[in-house]
Amino acid sequence: MITGKNYIGNQLLSEGNKTYKTLNPKLNIENEHTFFEASEEEINMAVSLASKAFETFKKVSRFKKAEFLNAIADEILALDTILINTYMSETGLPEGRAKGERGRTIGQLRMFADLVTNGSWVEATIDTADLDRKPIPKQDIRKMLIPLGPVVVFGASNFPLAYSTAGGDTAAAFAAGCPVIVKSHPMHAGTGELVASAIIKAAQKTGMPNGVFSNLNSSGIEVGVQLVKHPNVKAVGFTGSIRGGRALFDLASQRPEPIPVFAEMGSINPVILLPKATKSRGENLAKTYAKSITLGTGQFCTNPGLIIGIKGEALDSFIQILSNEIIKIEPSCMLHPNIIGNYERNKANALQQDGLSVTAEYDQDIAINHARQTITTVEGKTFLENTTLHQEIFGPFSLVVQCESAEELETIISNLEGQLTGTIIAENEEASTYNSVIEALQNRVGRIIFNGVPTGVEVCPAMLHGGPYPASTDSRFTAVGIHSIKRWVRPFSYQSWPNDLLPDELKNENPLHISRLVNGIQTNESI
Ligand code: NAP
Repeated sequence: MITGKNYIGNQLLSEGNKTYKTLNPKLNIENEHTFFEASEEEINMAVSLASKAFETFKKVSRFKKAEFLNAIADEILALDTILINTYMSETGLPEGRAKGERGRTIGQLRMFADLVTNGSWVEATIDTADLDRKPIPKQDIRKMLIPLGPVVVFGASNFPLAYSTAGGDTAAAFAAGCPVIVKSHPMHAGTGELVASAIIKAAQKTGMPNGVFSNLNSSGIEVGVQLVKHPNVKAVGFTGSIRGGRALFDLASQRPEPIPVFAEMGSINPVILLPKATKSRGENLAKTYAKSITLGTGQFCTNPGLIIGIKGEALDSFIQILSNEIIKIEPSCMLHPNIIGNYERNKANALQQDGLSVTAEYDQDIAINHARQTITTVEGKTFLENTTLHQEIFGPFSLVVQCESAEELETIISNLEGQLTGTIIAENEEASTYNSVIEALQNRVGRIIFNGVPTGVEVCPAMLHGGPYPASTDSRFTAVGIHSIKRWVRPFSYQSWPNDLLPDELKNENPLHISRLVNGIQTNESI
């Protein structure tokens, strides 16, 4: 049941007097529930509970933590149709997408449960003593990863489940041993509260401390700002716009005690069309890209917003087919009038730039809050000189840049901002003749794709979802997959510490049977 209240630990509270509702973008009407924005007092209570909970939660055994994560997955599934219907009414997204995203969310929670059950993720490293070493005796030193403390998570508008309340950031933080305070996304506050109720139920059923989780409503930036400034908050996870992520990053670094902000932000995901592949597979590529650009109404951070090729008949034909194909696709609903407002405004701004021409724009009647897919093109030189054209237009939009030569292509790639992904479309033998183009792309992105589309982010250990700024605020980390846990921990060393006082992960007898690096050798053996 949705109450519109805030979860301050296990308690539902509505002390604040600012209220708001979510909107059904398909029907363009407000949904029924009223949400109470968290008050300053409620924010302080949530952080104070999280700090207390941390003292217990960080010591919870790996099996109990896994039980908690699996219980969250079970409770989310138990919400069944109420969750799916609320998701659809707050996003305008179809049932298949809602169920698919729920599956991804459940999968992520269970993946982290398996990770903590195995236990080796703490990267235990042991260098035993050699007290006879000359001229200086070598001390016994043992290192492992330990949790940072309370983490604040900001979810994204476009992933109400997988990158929001119990999404990847939250699952990874719990797995690390960090309590989580979610700043609920105002566009899907009902979905957020339902998922929050599943987390609270799971926490109570598995005996987790009160305050291990809180969910705070807000319809503006104030709650988030107060949370990031709070001295007891130790890290921030953010998925959203560059403007929002950068504002929070700056705020966190100006605190008396700066804290890390792991922000996954916008990207235009350049796709490089090499000439031979464009010639031999242009038609199929154009059809595939028409679908990728419009997938989810273009509301994916991995949407291919920029396609770059070398001038010629093959590229002309690709642009022509892409333009014809994209307008055959039925326009779909965007998440919120604000999102479509931004799309229209950013697109209009791009279209005003000198040298940009529209090759396709859906021009039939469309339903309210639906977006007109658009393809544009520009000369390489113009693109290079005008960085306004390098900015993300969140929605079903793509710009095809026509370069004079491979040199110009490489220069353009080198002048792009950091990106989540880069894609090379090439014949196998062609790729090796464009080594410097590929290397230039590698310098700018977090993931490089060969002959595919950037949309679709597999959740697996080898995935890197991040990239050089402004794709993320720290390119050394991923927001997707098990290694995302590393954002919420710090390495910690014990020197000459008595064996029985060490955590189990570092004890001589290796009671958890985890894999450890002992005197330079990876082993599950005891010492
Ligand atoms: P958004 O407008 O940045 O909002 C995200 C959250 O941050 C909201 O809860 C928002 O609160 C809060 N926020 C924004 N600016 C803030 C500020 N200055 N101070 C404090 N809080 C602030 O982003 P969105 O509309 O949800 O998502 C669209 C964007 O996300 C696109 O650019 C897309 O590319 C990006 N995205 C990136 C990824 C990725 O993994 N890299 C994934 C999905 C989406 P309020 O709404 O209450 O103001």
